[in-house]
Amino acid sequence: MRYHFQDNDMRIDNDPKLDFKDVLIRPKRSTLTSRKSVDLVKNYNFRNSRNSWTGIPIIAANMDHCGTLAMAKALATFQMDVALHKHYHEDALVDFFSKHSHHWYSMGTAIEDLEKFEKVNDRLRPHQGPPPYVCIDVANGYSEKFVEFVKEFRNNHPYTTIMAGNVVTGEMVEQLILAGADVVKVGIGPGSVCTTRKMTGIGYPQLSAVIECADAAHGLGGLVCADGGCTTPGDIAKAFGAGADFVMLGGMLAGHDECDGHDVYNEPNHDDEGNSIPSHMKFYGMSSKAAMDKHSGGVAEYRASEGKEVLVPYRGRVENTVREILGGLRSACTYTGSRNLKELPKRTTFIIVGQQLNTVYGE
Ligand code: 5GP
Repeated sequence: MRYHFQDNDMRIDNDPKLDFKDVLIRPKRSTLTSRKSVDLVKNYNFRNSRNSWTGIPIIAANMDHCGTLAMAKALATFQMDVALHKHYHEDALVDFFSKHSHHWYSMGTAIEDLEKFEKVNDRLRPHQGPPPYVCIDVANGYSEKFVEFVKEFRNNHPYTTIMAGNVVTGEMVEQLILAGADVVKVGIGPGSVCTTRKMTGIGYPQLSAVIECADAAHGLGGLVCADGGCTTPGDIAKAFGAGADFVMLGGMLAGHDECDGHDVYNEPNHDDEGNSIPSHMKFYGMSSKAAMDKHSGGVAEYRASEGKEVLVPYRGRVENTVREILGGLRSACTYTGSRNLKELPKRTTFIIVGQQLNTVYGE
């Protein structure tokens, strides 16, 4: 139901929208005997670049804490990717992408970002070729200027796979795919260190955003990446069950040896050999004051920071966390009788739970 008011065009959309925490996945009869028989590797042929990609479609976010070179190396052993954060020096990027072209080069839409990409591109072209996968990332993917940027980038780089975002609604997903994006990144406000919802009142519950955006993208032969809001392996399973083709993680990969940033020694903490190790690590949003102080010399006067800084517990090597994530995902597939990740959305029935039930049915 939609309300219309005489004095203004404000609307209230009454359709219930859901977050990961509002649902569970119903188990289904299964012929699978063991988690081991579940295949998490997916293969994609991209709509616009005509390029292909094979791997486990989980990507570390392009944040300067976890979108690192060390993270890329660690995740590559699991056939997972990193969207490398954009603050690396040109030389480091050339060196990295000359050896590891499977990962995502990420950039914003600022002139200096484009110039740096073109320089890296030119230096790599004579050898093994430019980075094939590029993530063009802005906080608000709704601007006309952003769509124009994607269009022009597509014209100049016809064979590059473009991931672009972030948006949360189907019509904008379609517009970005038609402008040349292969994968649209979905999520405004769900991030663990994001304060957009608090600072602006803008947002969209992430599970519904993924369901609606995936439907729009798949209708055009495009793909989506669910970005933000996953706090457990179960949330990742829900995102794939909702139709996500890729899932991007920040907070779940924070606090590991492969992350960059400040170690914090708040509590005494020792490894097996008695060496002092950090109890926590600092993790902050890429539009937080901490990030802007580090990369742009402070928060610009006209904008408020839309990210925060938190302390996350130090968790050692990321491979242990990754094993937990992949174990949870395999188990979700077994519970639903999905032999692989591709079958998961087809065999997913979400049931609405707890508090949200009261909101939906007005109890
Ligand atoms: P997480 O997995 O930590 O819940 O979410 C990671 C995502 O949060 C990132 O991929 C990015 O889209 C988003 N993000 C990172 N930093 C910020 C920030 O400072 N502000 C906002 N609004 N979103 C952020």
